[in-house]
Amino acid sequence: MIHSDLLSPAKLKNILLSANINPKKSLGQNFLIDRNIVNKVVSAADLSKNDLVIEVGAGLGVLTVPLASKAKTVVAYEIDARLLPILEEVTEQSNNVEVRGEDVLNFKFQILNFKTYKVVGNLPYYIAPRILRLFLSESNPPESLVVIIQQEVAQRICAQPPQTSKLSLAVQFYGEPKIITTISRSFFWPMPNVDSALLKIVVKPDAGRQAVEECFFALLKAGFASKRKLLISNLTNYLLKNRAQWEEIFLAAKLPVLARAEQLSMEDWLRLAGEWKEMNIKNKN
Ligand code: SAM
Repeated sequence: MIHSDLLSPAKLKNILLSANINPKKSLGQNFLIDRNIVNKVVSAADLSKNDLVIEVGAGLGVLTVPLASKAKTVVAYEIDARLLPILEEVTEQSNNVEVRGEDVLNFKFQILNFKTYKVVGNLPYYIAPRILRLFLSESNPPESLVVIIQQEVAQRICAQPPQTSKLSLAVQFYGEPKIITTISRSFFWPMPNVDSALLKIVVKPDAGRQAVEECFFALLKAGFASKRKLLISNLTNYLLKNRAQWEEIFLAAKLPVLARAEQLSMEDWLRLAGEWKEMNIKNKN
């Protein structure tokens, strides 16, 4: 079996049929069948022969082989044991591919013999946000993530005020997301019910964010708890019961007390987290 067979829906169906494999919806198995999109993914990953790629959900290897031709090493995670013999066969000629037949959520960067890495994948939709969180909040995060995800989720991740959400802010806390291109559902087999997008997230240097990480995420959780309420009311209901103290914190962070969570920019949230943290420290002393 060769790599180009995977790009022909008829041949792909035959390969799976002869191995008695039915694509599993529960594992998000919608295989990419368009060469142009494969090329766009590889080009967006911006690889050199020094790069380690962690590929998430390698499937039958449609991305693995071209990624391996550009990178030093590709560690390809695929949870479905039924696909592994085909994945091994398709990647046979690429001697820099290491297939890991396991759940990518078990990923531990420490076990890799590299300083940096890049994440690439046509993500299984059912856990796409969890996978992004896993890598972005790693103590040693990747330089970038290039992923295919549902278009609507990609748009939510890239949203700016006044349309932000917990998801957009959680991702933008760590990196700069950008939609490279939208992808029609007809470029996958079996065809999913929604269109996709190719999203690139370039991870930002820490720049002091880590110091307020815990406060930032606690603020997001409480701040977006009730959509109809003002930010300050949510924070008073779910975090610190003293409204007058929040008014002081808002003043110090130069934020209007009537603000709604989705209107704040990343800089606003970082100032709010910084001021709240400072008040916590003062109160303890
Ligand atoms: N890369 C292939 C492609 O582009 O055609 C397959 C992409 S398909 C959308 C997602 C793949 O992720 C499936 O092969 C599925 O079995 C695999 N997968 C699902 N959950 C996983 C997990 N937790 N860890 C690793 N792989 C997973």
